[in-house]
Amino acid sequence: MKYPAIQNFIHGEFVQSSATRSLDVISPVDGTHLSKVPMSTATDLNRAVTAAKVAFSDWSRTPIKERVQVFFKYKALLEKNIKELAELIQEENGKTYGEAVAEIEKSIELSEFATSLPQLVTGEVLEVSKGVECRIEHVPVGIVASIVPFNFPNMVPNWTIPNAIALGNCMIMKPSEKVPLSVGRLASLLKEAGLPDGVFNVVHGDVEIVEAICDHPSIEAVSFVGSTKVAKIVYQRSTHQYKRCLALGGAKNHLLVLPDAIPGMTAQNVAASMSGCAGQRCMAASAMVAVGSVDHIIDKICDEARKIVPGKNLGAVINRQSKERIEKYITEAEKDGAKILIDGRNVVVAGKEGGTYVGPTVIDFVKPEMSVAREEIFGPVISIMRTHTVDEALAIENANPYGNAASVFTQSGGIARYIIDHASAGMVGVNVGVPVPREPFSFGGWNESKFGVGDITGKSSVEFWTKLKKSTTKWNPEAGINWMS
Ligand code: NAD
Repeated sequence: MKYPAIQNFIHGEFVQSSATRSLDVISPVDGTHLSKVPMSTATDLNRAVTAAKVAFSDWSRTPIKERVQVFFKYKALLEKNIKELAELIQEENGKTYGEAVAEIEKSIELSEFATSLPQLVTGEVLEVSKGVECRIEHVPVGIVASIVPFNFPNMVPNWTIPNAIALGNCMIMKPSEKVPLSVGRLASLLKEAGLPDGVFNVVHGDVEIVEAICDHPSIEAVSFVGSTKVAKIVYQRSTHQYKRCLALGGAKNHLLVLPDAIPGMTAQNVAASMSGCAGQRCMAASAMVAVGSVDHIIDKICDEARKIVPGKNLGAVINRQSKERIEKYITEAEKDGAKILIDGRNVVVAGKEGGTYVGPTVIDFVKPEMSVAREEIFGPVISIMRTHTVDEALAIENANPYGNAASVFTQSGGIARYIIDHASAGMVGVNVGVPVPREPFSFGGWNESKFGVGDITGKSSVEFWTKLKKSTTKWNPEAGINWMS
């Protein structure tokens, strides 16, 4: 084992879990045994919640301008340690070094946004009657939980850490058991940045600990990011316990390509969107709808795909099951009559034979009813469907149950606006392959890509991480008693 066995982080210390079960952490890069992660129990969660409760008393009363000072320092520490953090992401997740650096740059931007929160939560006050004031203040929700997936071991935890904590909450983080190392480093950096003990706690595990989080009476809010299947479970279970919950799910993002699209730029964007992070992004392009005659663009997409080499500028997929699942989708599409233009199956990278790689895959003449067109694949695969009109293409996009992202490639402003208005997706791109809004704009899909109200980042997250205190005050006795009636 390259690293010591992983521990939970409770009240500012790394502590042994009471778990009797553990899982091996294997690097997808080359199969190296990195560590083992404990499958913590409700007892571990109780310890973390107790620590968070003790910390909440002071932290929630610390003025926000003081609280955000931690995130100025945390941002600087992310910048200072970017190389080491990126190498750790690369090792446990399998993405390329450049992709890992880009992920941390996004974490830095998320921290930067949190430092601006005092400007956004100034509240409201108005003299509503002579000498009578109504005031609204944002106050922290309490003890909150954040459950995260494997595909962004550093950035997705930072979707919630800076905003929730700067707004005065104390957090229990449940990392993905597939990539548990990065969150441990984030815990150390938060401590180094001056975050008081108990404000941020980490409890590792799988289903058992997630269920315990949903059921725990002292946890007020649950944020979840992962697959739609689990998002539904977490949303139902935690709201059943009367908690607020925001659960982000999976995706099947469509790119609509029109004949007037700029060929080179479009091809580069399509290839980068489907293959970045080995296709393991909830914003990755998974389906392309070719409207009319765009064969010249498809040829260029294939040229771009040929430049993407596993083990060089294409990282690994998370594990063997994932590789097998992705390859099965490609084989099924082939059997169903689709044409494999570029085939990423059976890739072995020399010197990294224990790694789990899938090459870029371009599949043409896919029909909307095929599994490769309907389901989330989460690999570097794009399925091309052919239509004659923009409305047919939109109908295909809107028929899929997800609604994270959709993009259109065209030079027509009218068509672009039409797609923005009619695509059933929370985030729409025009000539952009991965339309992730940057801070302060918020991130969040629609339909089966998100359950709950509001978005997870940006200004929208303030509503989720705070409750509103309304006060009415009158200090002048002459204003009378019944000022309203
Ligand atoms: P996952 O749903 O398997 O796991 C997410 C978390 O849930 C993990 O912490 C895991 O331990 C836990 N979990 C797994 N099964 C569970 C169960 N049965 N009950 C309770 N908890 C359970 O997701 P993943 O494979 O880690 O990540 C990939 C998925 O995440 C993809 O579907 C991707 O689209 C999605 N994702 C979505 C977004 C978004 O913004 N919508 C962002 C990133 C990833």
